[in-house]
Amino acid sequence: MYNPKSMRAEEFIDDIEINESIKYAQDNKHNLELIDKILAKAKLRKGLSHRDAAVLLACDIEEKNQEIYELAKQIKQDFYGNRIVLFAPLYLSNYCINGCVYCPYHAQNKHIPRKKMTQDEIIREVTALQDMGHKRIAIETGEDPVNNPIEYILESLKTIYSVKHKNGAIRRANVNIAATTVENYKKLKEAGIGTYILFQETYNKERYEMLHPTGPKHNYAYHTEAMDRAMEGGIDDVGLGVLFGLSTYMYEFIGQLMHAEHLEAVHGVGPHTISVPRIRKADDIDPSTFENGIDDDTFCKIVACIRIAVPYTGMICSTRESKEVRARVLNLGISQISGGSKTSVGGYDENDYTEEDSSQFDVTDNRSLDEVMKWLMEIGYLPSFCTACYREGRTGERFMEICKSKQIQFCCHPNAIITLKEYLEDYASFETKTVGEKLIEKELETFKNNPKFRETLEKYLKKIEQGERDFRF
Ligand code: SF4
Ligand code: SF4
Repeated sequence: MYNPKSMRAEEFIDDIEINESIKYAQDNKHNLELIDKILAKAKLRKGLSHRDAAVLLACDIEEKNQEIYELAKQIKQDFYGNRIVLFAPLYLSNYCINGCVYCPYHAQNKHIPRKKMTQDEIIREVTALQDMGHKRIAIETGEDPVNNPIEYILESLKTIYSVKHKNGAIRRANVNIAATTVENYKKLKEAGIGTYILFQETYNKERYEMLHPTGPKHNYAYHTEAMDRAMEGGIDDVGLGVLFGLSTYMYEFIGQLMHAEHLEAVHGVGPHTISVPRIRKADDIDPSTFENGIDDDTFCKIVACIRIAVPYTGMICSTRESKEVRARVLNLGISQISGGSKTSVGGYDENDYTEEDSSQFDVTDNRSLDEVMKWLMEIGYLPSFCTACYREGRTGERFMEICKSKQIQFCCHPNAIITLKEYLEDYASFETKTVGEKLIEKELETFKNNPKFRETLEKYLKKIEQGERDFRF
């Protein structure tokens, strides 16, 4: 029986409810009256239920689809303005005992080079990331209690936060590791992690069990209930994601929104972020063998509908996507992107870099962080390395409250300018710096009705030029 408040995976992600919602969406995809009603509800910017959102996703009336895209753009503008937060993944170890058939790190893959970084190698990787300008990373490992036990993750986090190269620092380390116990989540919380990210991969239990034939990850319930354990362990920022292509996109879309509804119903706070990866080519993996792959247009529609359904949730797009697709989805709802990413263990430090085929997936957007920064500014965005909320204790429910009241804008915007200024001073190429300085001038104009605030901000910018760092609102 479907029950968003249940703590049992099969009740809050109920297969019957998902299939009935798919049918409801299909039956109503031409129902103009209902679609208009849902759009009116969506315009209140309080989100939509999974059923309502599914109708918008299924809608194939061209004129209404344009309205959906327009609304997604407006909601994105209202909540996030023109800011885009930057991050990079950091792969610590690709040892893994699971058998996920879509990932080259699966235990049966005997020819991929296996690597686990030592603490010294991690220092070199983090130094390389800091020298690019990154302040926020997402650490990734395979699941392997012998090679990658929780103690290894905790020690690595300590190392990551301890590296301070020149003016660099990693100010927020998000963690993407396998589902674990409440005890271990408590330890991660104490280690000062930002968001705990765990991709569901697929919400379809039957497909899930088929695609995860061996290893602890085979247990659908344990995996799906992980976010509840993380929250019980005190982690209040959690990040969801499915791997589009593993099951039908409509099933995943509805399942994911039901998961968000469950977190809200039980813990009073929905997901902090939703990532939208699509299956990509990798060593041992041919995406054409997955019959549920989605095209770019469908992908964009999914992003727009998630944006409308959960306006307060950050949305992440990685370098799996091309520059062109990233430009499209930035416009429709994505608020965070990775830049200059390497998806192999030891990929950032030139001395450690060995074989490209140890990547978890092929990167489509191969540009450097500096190129991505310049590009973002040239197409109208304000790149941000802000990590202020987490460091000011604005997380979980407190974060969502400020976010829902739109107060957050008064922090995000000036913090974006401050962190951009740091980037321009420390890491940017001459061309990027020129574009960035012009952008900062323009952005300062938006504070013209608040001269006191502008004065404080300008004082901070001056101090950054003089060598001081880490100002924040
Ligand atoms: S997806 Fe994660 S758990 Fe599965 S094989 Fe890859 S690294 Fe291991
Ligand atoms: S102020 Fe908070 S919500 Fe805004 S960009 Fe910074 S960390 Fe994110």
